[in-house]
Amino acid sequence: MTGGAGFLGGWLCRALLDDGWQVLAVDNFLTGSPSVVKDLEPHPDFAFLEADVTEVLDVPGEVGLVMHLASPASPVHYGSLPLETMLVGSQGTMHALDLAQREGARFVLASTSEVYGDPLVHPQPETYWGNVNPVGPRSVYDEAKRYAESLTTAYRTSRGVDTAIARIFNTYGPGMRVDDGRMIPAFMMQALRGEPIQVAGDGSQTRSLCYVTDTARGLCALADSSHAGPVNLGGQQELTVLQVAEAVRRLTGSASTIEFVELPVDDPKVRRPDITRARELLGWQPVVPLEEGLRCALEWFESQLAPDGQAKAH
Ligand code: NAD
Repeated sequence: MTGGAGFLGGWLCRALLDDGWQVLAVDNFLTGSPSVVKDLEPHPDFAFLEADVTEVLDVPGEVGLVMHLASPASPVHYGSLPLETMLVGSQGTMHALDLAQREGARFVLASTSEVYGDPLVHPQPETYWGNVNPVGPRSVYDEAKRYAESLTTAYRTSRGVDTAIARIFNTYGPGMRVDDGRMIPAFMMQALRGEPIQVAGDGSQTRSLCYVTDTARGLCALADSSHAGPVNLGGQQELTVLQVAEAVRRLTGSASTIEFVELPVDDPKVRRPDITRARELLGWQPVVPLEEGLRCALEWFESQLAPDGQAKAH
């Protein structure tokens, strides 16, 4: 698996090990951390390789499945790593596909709801082509993933590689970096520190959150199937960003105020997956209720705070 030392990668390593796979996690720690996989090191079926997948991807042993997750995923990260993001989505994806072709392995691409951009169709079915600004600040991520989807499709049609594409919607949970910048880490850290919870725009834009174990389970189900996708994997409870901020404030019991800040350019106004395909093809749907997921995430962020309110070092 590429991106194995990231937030989702760490959970997916564990889910694959539980399913009986031998897992080799490949990561260059661009946005991930050795701490994510540290406790897996003694596991007899787990190995780690520090490598940049934009270089040639060569791994020891036989490979039956390539799961390609390597890519910065938070707007804060890809905003500060624009070229690295484009390279890992293009070169990195090609190297991961080449590995799958060489090994005759199934290939699963971790794509994203961002391929729908600021969607004009709501909720978003996989048949929707999206509304992406190719030169906007989010384009390095959105277009890299759209390119990765095209490349994956070309390897399937012209080289016969057994590929699949998952379009993952906003996923949250324990293991996210405190400085990740995405909505849940940002709101929870602000609430725990008693700082104003910063809501972009008027907070009326919507997101559909999915707990990380549900997303990991969906990726495993897609890997185990023979379907090519794309398949949406995401939560069904659509909330405004302001509702999420209020839920976090309630849950933490924080006295934080809510502060409205400038809406980022090209911020999607609505986001909710149509998961009919995942339900019908994979028998998948999210099962972790939002309240429960938020509570688990909160415990994680609490554990990451030193008494002085600073994040603990990893
Ligand atoms: P993350 O930033 O925590 O993990 C990404 C991992 O990829 C990191 O460990 C990073 O070091 C690694 N990486 C980046 N470039 C690399 C390179 N050139 N070589 C080797 N490793 C490299 O992000 P995440 O939230 O875990 O997301 C994982 C994947 O899932 C990404 O591809 C992302 O686009 C996709 N995704 C995630 C979400 C979500 O809500 N978490 C939603 C949609 C799609």
